[in-house]
Amino acid sequence: PARPVYAGLLPQGLQTISNIIAVSSCKGGVGKSTVAVNLAYTLAGMGARVGIFDADVYGPSLPTMVSPGNRLLEMNPEKKTIIPTEYLGVKLVSFGFAGQGRAIMRGPMVSGVINQLLTTTEWGELDYLVIDMPPGTGDIQLTLCQVVPLTAAVIVTTPQKLAFIDVAKGVRMFSKLKVPCVAVVENMCHFDADGKRYYPFGRGSGSQVVQQFGIPHLFDLPIRPTLSASGDSGMPEVAADPQGDVAKIFQDLGICV
Ligand code: ADP
Repeated sequence: PARPVYAGLLPQGLQTISNIIAVSSCKGGVGKSTVAVNLAYTLAGMGARVGIFDADVYGPSLPTMVSPGNRLLEMNPEKKTIIPTEYLGVKLVSFGFAGQGRAIMRGPMVSGVINQLLTTTEWGELDYLVIDMPPGTGDIQLTLCQVVPLTAAVIVTTPQKLAFIDVAKGVRMFSKLKVPCVAVVENMCHFDADGKRYYPFGRGSGSQVVQQFGIPHLFDLPIRPTLSASGDSGMPEVAADPQGDVAKIFQDLGICV
């Protein structure tokens, strides 16, 4: 679809990137960063050149979820650009790699810092840049979406919070910007124990919502101790177990972005 918002204004740092995917959620703690990181490593496993931009200034997760050898971003002093760090071939930029403590900033300042970090990074040629969006649909998110020519958005939610109004907010923000929402990931939807499957938060609401909004894909991501353990260990689950069930779900998601 046409994107009149950014016509002719594509920031230079982003011109060598083919697809920019936003991973977004209305609330914190629903698994947005888990989905962003595992999606990125799945795309890399499929042979794509991939970067992750962790846009969460207040609570950057990327430094916990991946453990690159070099945990600090470097500057190119001549070009005044930022050189991403890298882990298993994926380029990484996060405030958590910027060598400062947790940021205390007001909204407009945050937007400026995010945009600067994103657009002055030397991403090089990438097939996909996955942006782990800050949670919510406020000014910071809106400004970011206006600066960046997003190709697609993935919305992450949990079943009990898959309230109509929550997902609607996310879809509305992206549709205002003419960014297609290609998938909803319903995280922590079930777990298996004693040979049975349990749906602790109920079921059925996900398919209702995607139908209502015409979103083409819905993915159920189960509760898995290995997912939280890998998130804490710095080795993404899909890279640690590329043949596993979770990796298969992310491969399907990878295909639809
Ligand atoms: P958000 O980015 O939305 O704040 P995170 O991705 O940081 O959420 O996830 C919050 C916590 O829940 C993390 O510790 C993560 O490892 C864990 N987690 C997320 N999804 C799952 C899952 N499907 N199974 C088990 N643990 C999960």
